Amino acid sequence: MDKAFLYSEEFAAFDYGSAHPLKPYRLRLVYELVQAFGLLGPPGVRLIEAVPASEKDLLLFHDRKYLNLLKTLNAGFYVPGAEQYGMGNGDNPIFKGMFDWSELVAGASLQAAEIVNSGEADIAFNISGGLHHALSSRASGFCYVNDPVIAIMSLLKKGRRVMYVDIDAHHGDGVQAAFYETDKVLTVSIHESGYYLFPGSGFEHETGKGPGKGYSVNIPLPPYTDDELFLYAFNEIVPPLFDAFKPDILVSQLGVDAFRTDPLTHLQYTTNGFCKAVETMKALAPKWVALGGGGYDIANVARAWTLAWAIMCGREVSDKIPEEFLKAHGHEGFANGKIRDEEFIGKGNQKELMRKEVERVVSFVKEMVFQKIH
Ligand code: ZN
Repeated sequence: MDKAFLYSEEFAAFDYGSAHPLKPYRLRLVYELVQAFGLLGPPGVRLIEAVPASEKDLLLFHDRKYLNLLKTLNAGFYVPGAEQYGMGNGDNPIFKGMFDWSELVAGASLQAAEIVNSGEADIAFNISGGLHHALSSRASGFCYVNDPVIAIMSLLKKGRRVMYVDIDAHHGDGVQAAFYETDKVLTVSIHESGYYLFPGSGFEHETGKGPGKGYSVNIPLPPYTDDELFLYAFNEIVPPLFDAFKPDILVSQLGVDAFRTDPLTHLQYTTNGFCKAVETMKALAPKWVALGGGGYDIANVARAWTLAWAIMCGREVSDKIPEEFLKAHGHEGFANGKIRDEEFIGKGNQKELMRKEVERVVSFVKEMVFQKIH
């Protein structure tokens, strides 16, 4: 079965501003590293040009007034009242093309959902997607339009059951909020605890409301959680819930800002833990829409999503990053020229305290949620 990689040269042209940590340019780096490893060649691989979503698509989730404002801001100039919608501050700057950017990202996630739903491919990866913080009429956490929600809404309209798994360092709050009161979508977010990190939510006792009770799952992790404890939580929660809920399609957010060298967060994952989680998602889901997400060390983004794409395609890649890529991009932080991180496992008293905390959260979630899912 084919695998689809969504991409547009346009991605890298957008710019949140030189001081902003989200660099759309990182997406070109992913594309070029994927190409350098020959992972977009046949057999069974399709490179698909991303096309912008229509306004009708965006209205699947977003408020018309909010979209009109976003469209006005596309020129890059401040409009009075923008801050009421979360725009114009440091996190969510007003920049030229911000509506075009949002339409393109959402369009690519919709295409990924459509390709997988129709059976054209069993896996589609939109590296630009995963902007999981945007609310229906508010920008938040670098996200103006919530492409995971829009993609999931499009699948619900076709009668699909969807499980959403989010391994970004930040809580997937926008996606959780959109589906908090329904049992049609099961959302799972594994992230650094809201006590220490934006957006300050995603606690284990947030489990859904009304018919959605039990269908929102949160695993907050203590700062400095490593691969071992992340994978323990992931493996205890995600496969059993997948088996119980039996979704038609898995949608996942593969943010890589939980890595040790990410400048914005305090978790300590490496490519080793990340890849094991990606392998498990692949093994679980016969139909899979994979999205990008956070990642502010851009060499990590390129390395991790290239490895993820290789896993999706069932291809092996050597550890050594091709010479021609390093020649062009070596200065971007590919220090040792390798695609994989060294293994890192935390030790000592702190680690044992963290282990107890993660075990406590996992057993709380099992008790509160497991028997409710069917
Ligand atoms: Zn994040």
